[in-house]
Amino acid sequence: FEPWNDPAQAPLIEFDRVTKRFGEAVAVDDLSLRVFTREFFALLGPSGCGKSTLLRMLAGFEEPTSGDIRLSGQSLKGVPPHRRPLNMMFQSYALFPHMSVEKNVAFGLRQDGMGRAEIEARVAEMLKLVKLERYARRKPQQLSGGQQQRVALARSLAKRPKVLLLDEPLGALDKKLREETQFELMDLQQELGLTFVVVTHDQEEAMTMSDRIAVMREGRVAQVATPAVLYEAPGSRYVADFVGTVSILEGTVTAAGEGRVRLEADGAVLETLSEHALAPGDKAAFAIRPEKVRLSKQAPANTAVNALRGQVWDIAYLGDVTLFNVRLASGAILRATVINAARVAQEQIAWEDEVWLTFSPDAGVILKD
Ligand code: ATP
Repeated sequence: FEPWNDPAQAPLIEFDRVTKRFGEAVAVDDLSLRVFTREFFALLGPSGCGKSTLLRMLAGFEEPTSGDIRLSGQSLKGVPPHRRPLNMMFQSYALFPHMSVEKNVAFGLRQDGMGRAEIEARVAEMLKLVKLERYARRKPQQLSGGQQQRVALARSLAKRPKVLLLDEPLGALDKKLREETQFELMDLQQELGLTFVVVTHDQEEAMTMSDRIAVMREGRVAQVATPAVLYEAPGSRYVADFVGTVSILEGTVTAAGEGRVRLEADGAVLETLSEHALAPGDKAAFAIRPEKVRLSKQAPANTAVNALRGQVWDIAYLGDVTLFNVRLASGAILRATVINAARVAQEQIAWEDEVWLTFSPDAGVILKD
């Protein structure tokens, strides 16, 4: 399932050079983006980067200042929210407190003038879908946060929209429930064959659920890619930093060509695969994920390339792994994780130990800012 790589596929949703200004402030800045049918698509970025504004324009609550948004090739310009074949679920859920669960779910259907028997059948179907059949008569405040979230979901799905827009859908849930609900949402999306566009500032959540993620920065898209590509091949320092944990070493290029770059950083020679056009003397940033770094008190066989010395500065036990922050001579910190299940058989490394950090040429990436 990779419609974005298939040139014959038409996008379902298309943002075409969309800009949104609020007075002087530019919330969305000349942004273009395509989302495909049945995709689970996330808009990820820090507070204020414009992700909610983008979603609200898609829903029709805001109009773009310039540019166009198309659904199945048709411009949405001037189409009011209730005429768009999509539905939005808000973070606050916006459930009616005085109405029962079933009345909440039926609300939109009644407004649309659907017949009584049909409404009853649809509500029952929706409550079954979110596993709340037994709670039909309860009021929202008699439910847990997770159950309320599922009522909101049932309500937004009741009209069978083509596209569901979710603004921080799991924001009000605690960590454990959030993780469970992530999988429920994914299952539901698969089962119903819907297209989901989710706004979140939580990179783990976006990584878990999405087919693709647009990482946003100041009203623009910094990179749009699958979670694996964002993690393995971030296109910029911003993306590398925002998605997952990364260490960055500043270096100077000493040789480049044929898909490889050699640089000097922290008194060591680093060699890495890179297609960037770089020349000796250029400044470059080398980024590496902690699980790609090997850590040992023993010197490696080859200390000439991709081997750095440092001192263990911090150790954090994280359950699945232990994270070591190692301080290099320059003061820069390089992070390495060791899988705890493998640790028993390994040498013990303690605070203040002098260690070697090694990695292979395909472990890191060169970032251009
Ligand atoms: P958050 O996660 O905090 O909701 P966000 O990434 O969703 O952030 P937006 O809510 O889209 O960001 O806001 C983007 C920018 O536009 C912000 O600087 C915000 O202050 C501004 N903005 C959003 N809505 C309005 C409005 N109605 N009037 C004026 N400025 C607005």
